[in-house]
Amino acid sequence: MIARPRVLLIDNQKSVWEYLKEPLEAEGYDLFNAKSIDGFHNELLFNPPDIILLSLTVPESASNEILAYLKSHENTEKIPVIAVINRNNIEEGIKGLEAGAVDYIGKPFYLREVVAKLRIHLRLREYEEKLIRKNQELEKYSAILLEFNAKLEELARRDELTQIWNRRAFNEQIAQLNNYSQRYARPYSILIIDLDHFKKYNDLYGHQAGDFVLKTVAESIEKTCRLTDFVARYGGEEIMVLLPETGEEEAVKIAERIIDSVRKLNIKHENNDNIGIITVSIGLATYLPGSQDDEEGWEKLLKRADDALYRAKETGRNRLCRQ
Ligand code: GH3
Ligand code: MG
Ligand code: MG
Repeated sequence: MIARPRVLLIDNQKSVWEYLKEPLEAEGYDLFNAKSIDGFHNELLFNPPDIILLSLTVPESASNEILAYLKSHENTEKIPVIAVINRNNIEEGIKGLEAGAVDYIGKPFYLREVVAKLRIHLRLREYEEKLIRKNQELEKYSAILLEFNAKLEELARRDELTQIWNRRAFNEQIAQLNNYSQRYARPYSILIIDLDHFKKYNDLYGHQAGDFVLKTVAESIEKTCRLTDFVARYGGEEIMVLLPETGEEEAVKIAERIIDSVRKLNIKHENNDNIGIITVSIGLATYLPGSQDDEEGWEKLLKRADDALYRAKETGRNRLCRQ
């Protein structure tokens, strides 16, 4: 409850003010009086009272105007207004309610009734404010939660070591890309990239150094690809690239660029056959719309890329083989 609620009485009869002033102050309210709201606008807007007693015995048009004014300003629209009517004129009270008052009270006053109604409406207003605040807090927290969930979702799809997409994200992405490409009869290609003699690298330089190489190679592959390509760590030292809207010839160029970019990293690997630096082998497969690929699905395409990779390894590594 507010310590000393501020009650504004809008009434042009001095007697009403005089009757209410002392008893209300004794009950813990501060009572202010205005004959109308002319010249009172600033006070209303910048130091609004907690509750208003508005006499409808001021000419009807004026009291309606006052209610409309209060409802039209952000600072005053929520202030409860109790209409003050002549006790035997219920019609007046109903009009007040229809115009936006929360209740009415009759003259001549019963002081206990005035105090009880002030208390009820101040409490209701307080509950309303609390509810609004709680709602705002809830909205804030739900926005934070949404953002947090989106981050979690992203984290669950990223590979911890290399920060490129992980296998889960890859599986979702290739299923989507396959659907899209089939529906719109567009080609796409996949590359399986595998580091050459990486076990020997770990054996010679240690696992930590191996991790660093994986990170560096993944970064280099991502940089070499286009923004629309999708680079994911599929397994230990296998990186997949999805190339949407890309036929075989264009995919070959990208794969060659990747092989070249890894060589250019010039990372020493003395046990990589006679090459002396870290290299990768790549298997490539392309989805052709309208071909048998439509029945076989993306799993078969992956298998073709894997077979091509196997051949690249068999025929000397550090190279690209197509399906
Ligand atoms: P190949 O040229 O035929 O691919 O030979 P390879 O040694 O690279 O292939 P193999 O599949 O025999 O071994 C893969 C190695 O990759 C095994 C493991 O030591 C290494 N590896 C897999 N995941 C990680 C990783 O997260 N960090 C490090 N440092 N090494 C990894
Ligand atoms: Mg390997
Ligand atoms: Mg491998």
